[in-house]
Amino acid sequence: MEKRDKILIIDDSSVQADMLKSILEKDYDITTANTAASGLHQARIGKFSLVLLDVIMPGMDGFDLLKKLQEEVVTQQIPVILITSLADAEYEERGLVLGAVDYITKPYHAPIVRARVNTHIKLYRYRAQVERQSMIDPMTGVPNRRSYDITCHDKWQEAARMQQPISLCMFDIDRFKTYNDTFGHPAGDQVICAVATTATGFLRRSTDFFARYGGEEFVAIILGSDAKTAFNQMKKIRREVEKLHIAHAPEAAQWVTVSIGGVTVVPRLEDSYDTYLKIADGMLYDAKRMGRNKVIWSTDKLEQLNED
Ligand SMILES: [Mg+2]
Repeated sequence: MEKRDKILIIDDSSVQADMLKSILEKDYDITTANTAASGLHQARIGKFSLVLLDVIMPGMDGFDLLKKLQEEVVTQQIPVILITSLADAEYEERGLVLGAVDYITKPYHAPIVRARVNTHIKLYRYRAQVERQSMIDPMTGVPNRRSYDITCHDKWQEAARMQQPISLCMFDIDRFKTYNDTFGHPAGDQVICAVATTATGFLRRSTDFFARYGGEEFVAIILGSDAKTAFNQMKKIRREVEKLHIAHAPEAAQWVTVSIGGVTVVPRLEDSYDTYLKIADGMLYDAKRMGRNKVIWSTDKLEQLNED
């Protein structure tokens, strides 16, 4: 069964809130809040698809709350429909200018309330789907560069805050240009997909992140593992790719392989992500220089871990 969308109703009058709830609860999961403050709290934690917000409330009114919802990263994507009465028609324009998607007027006309709510829920779902798709590399099905660019700094800050080790890791398919020149781009694309699938199989924890960086390059971020553990995890991936036994161009190698470079660090606040990404890139360069099909890692103390 399809998951029901959640709607938050914020109205200082519980009679009014219950009336709206009774119109919508057949199709949606409804939460109500009787003050702007508790509404804001609910909106932050509740994963709502829509907020219905009363304009006139004591203390923080609907407009102030609307501004707050629009400012905060976790709530700014949630569409807000304002609730006004016929007497406050002049507020409607102000609400729409502030970013509300629509308004409904009291007294409620149930079919109109349902129609407007359904429309905005549909739009929200569509936007969420487009947003999800824009984060995925269509060829491999793994997160794309855009997703990586958004995720990497969050992961870095999380590691700094929790004082947990974070591993940054660059992958590259060995002599991929030769492969493409020999077997053609469609075959090359299949190799990229095979490597992505293999790597994803070893990076399944919620603290793991894996993305296509571009071309035949991938990037992985692992939270919470020490250097040795992350290094061993990448060695497994390197070996599994080799064991796929995808024949390479004769002048390149017997099988398709990957080179991997990484670094593990417990970030301090003054450390920069880019500095450590450069170190990971340097390790990848060393892996290539030392004959490819290798994992080379740097620890927090900049000691190098090599294979064999
Ligand atoms: Mg009110």
